[in-house]
Amino acid sequence: MAEQGVKFKVCSDNQAGLLRLRTLSDNPGQDNQIRAIKATKAIRAKGAEVELIWVPGHCDIPGNELADKLAKEATAQLPEADATSFAFLGIRINQLKRQEIRKTLSGLKPSEIQESYRNIYTWKISSKISLPIGTRREQASSFFQLKLGHGFLKSHLHRIGVTQSNRCLCGKKETPKHLLLECPRYRTQRAVLEEKIRNQIRVKELNLPLLLHTKVGIESTLAFLKETKICTRTWHVQREEEREEEHEEEQVGEREEERGEEQEEGQEEEREEEEGESDRD
Ligand SMILES: [Zn+2]
Repeated sequence: MAEQGVKFKVCSDNQAGLLRLRTLSDNPGQDNQIRAIKATKAIRAKGAEVELIWVPGHCDIPGNELADKLAKEATAQLPEADATSFAFLGIRINQLKRQEIRKTLSGLKPSEIQESYRNIYTWKISSKISLPIGTRREQASSFFQLKLGHGFLKSHLHRIGVTQSNRCLCGKKETPKHLLLECPRYRTQRAVLEEKIRNQIRVKELNLPLLLHTKVGIESTLAFLKETKICTRTWHVQREEEREEEHEEEQVGEREEERGEEQEEGQEEEREEEEGESDRD
């Protein structure tokens, strides 16, 4: 079966499992993981390809029979990766979007709601998830991860047991909100993002519904993601390496401190010995 030119597609809605197979992990390896990686290597050695495809689960969408039906069809047909995941992401995103808009509006006074609807309409909330034509796959993927709170986000990786920490390199909890609106590491790019939006619409401050659900917001956010590479594989690998380097430096620092302390102790002992000698005189 495994020969030159053959492509295997492994579809799963177990994102934790898939991530463990292709993500740098700081947890000790498990038997199944090692076996799967060995099998993949053997298949690749024969010139065939293996592709891991995440088909988003649907169990957390109550009563969504359409998603359920589509999931079954997708598993039966093993369609193209993009087509599959994007269709499902669309369904889930629309669900989340409605929830978020409802939540945003329910926090407002009745007099403000009408106003908000009008404001939102001027932002042109699209009824379906459509990214501008020409959006690169990499940015589209990052965008969906931030929208769903899944993928290379530390808060997510930690929740599913892939990483030991849920912290960003800056030390705060790494969530979509943190990366898009707060992290000091992206201050410069965020200023550009904010300016882009303010040039088009009047807003008090940036917020997630604006960035992830509105036409103006989506366009500007995609540009921000292109600059920062947030939630791309390269970004994730690089920051894990940076984190490891920092960790190593810390350890070297600690070792040097320990050595310093040992020296001081040694000197004290010498002094005590000298004092002891002078006592005997
Ligand atoms: Zn941060």
